[in-house]
Amino acid sequence: MALIVQKFGGSSVANAERVLNVAQRVVDIHQQGNQVVVVLSAQGDTTDELIEKAMEINEKPSKREMDMLLSTGEQISISLMSMAIAKLGFQAISLTGYQAGIFTDGTYSNARIEKIDGSRVRSELDAGKIVIVAGFQGMNKNGDITTLGRGGSDTTAVALAAALQADFCEIYTDVDGVYTADPRVVPNARKLRDVSFDEMLELACMGARVLHNRSVELAKKYNVNMVVRSSLNDHEGTLVREVTEMEKMMIKGVAYDKDIARISIIAVRDIPGVAFKIFKLLADVDINVDIILQSIGRGDTKDISFTIARSQLVDAVDLINKNLDYIGAKEVNFTRDVAKVSIVGAGMANHPGVAAAMFEALAEADINIHMISTSEIKISCLVRWDEAEKAVQAIHKRFGLDKEI
Ligand code: ADP
Ligand code: ASP
Ligand code: MG
Repeated sequence: MALIVQKFGGSSVANAERVLNVAQRVVDIHQQGNQVVVVLSAQGDTTDELIEKAMEINEKPSKREMDMLLSTGEQISISLMSMAIAKLGFQAISLTGYQAGIFTDGTYSNARIEKIDGSRVRSELDAGKIVIVAGFQGMNKNGDITTLGRGGSDTTAVALAAALQADFCEIYTDVDGVYTADPRVVPNARKLRDVSFDEMLELACMGARVLHNRSVELAKKYNVNMVVRSSLNDHEGTLVREVTEMEKMMIKGVAYDKDIARISIIAVRDIPGVAFKIFKLLADVDINVDIILQSIGRGDTKDISFTIARSQLVDAVDLINKNLDYIGAKEVNFTRDVAKVSIVGAGMANHPGVAAAMFEALAEADINIHMISTSEIKISCLVRWDEAEKAVQAIHKRFGLDKEI
């Protein structure tokens, strides 16, 4: 008897028909003699709608109350699923994050799972039930509800799979697996048979929202057997695992992220310690900085630019404005008119010329590059916001990712 964790995303449970479809799939697996834990997201666009509801009332709601609100979306899904399974004649029980023993740190809206007490889930499974857990939520040490960040139900599933030592963690979504690029942007993108944890982590961090980045981090840490596949058909999905078959592909995929913004601090004094002051200020309030570019000094000043998540722009600019004297800078400016386009592949480390090929693709598409950052398995370029999709298509084509290897 295997223990299987199955996660279904929002579109897979968007309406009654889809809920019943998922219920049938789950029951089929259960009937084959497996124990099944089901993790669900909120139905369809529920989470976005809840955010809109909050904005109608207060544009700057407290994060605690936002988490209280957003966690309700997943609770609708799990109760409905439990009812659907009961209707099919099987025993099921729905559990909130807390009831499933998921404990997090205190960071509202982006909490990290610290510990899972799997005893309740285990005892319900041992009683022969299908256990349905609300994704995306947990509880902090004050007993308050936290959420794990957008897309966080994937992380709930992997964390539960690790804690329960499940045999498989299956992530069901609205595409057939992980592709060489978002198939909605690049129609001839190809489904990958497998992708390594490291590559998938980079793709997820660079904006491929098919998996929440923390879920991949956890899957790697606990070596969880993970597969991404469609809830609407039986096609083979994509295996996410430690090592992939000997790589012929230098580049595994192209990702893009439009959810970012650029900040520039102008005329910073060109003396030691300035970068430390800026980035320490930001780190102290949990603002994550991504690409950083420092200009060569002119006279005794220089400029420092960096990108951050769009949701943190207002807080970051406020903070820097308040500290201009302390930093020793003249002014700060920012733009939301940017997107980050990245290529990812473990194979690129040994291939000189990959960066040049990416820049060539962008040049041929007449797309200007504003910032560049590289790592062993990734190259990212900052481009204009409205050119992101065109950039992804050009790069995908340049590397021949649509071709069968
Ligand atoms: P779910 O609600 O199931 O969690 P998401 O919307 O979070 O679904 O993630 C699935 C979506 O991710 C797909 O519909 C697709 O548009 C997008 N996506 C982005 N990059 C990729 C990629 N490389 N491969 C597959 N899907 C991707
Ligand atoms: N419902 C949450 C979101 O929309 C979590 C998830 O879908 O994974 O971000
Ligand atoms: Mg998702």
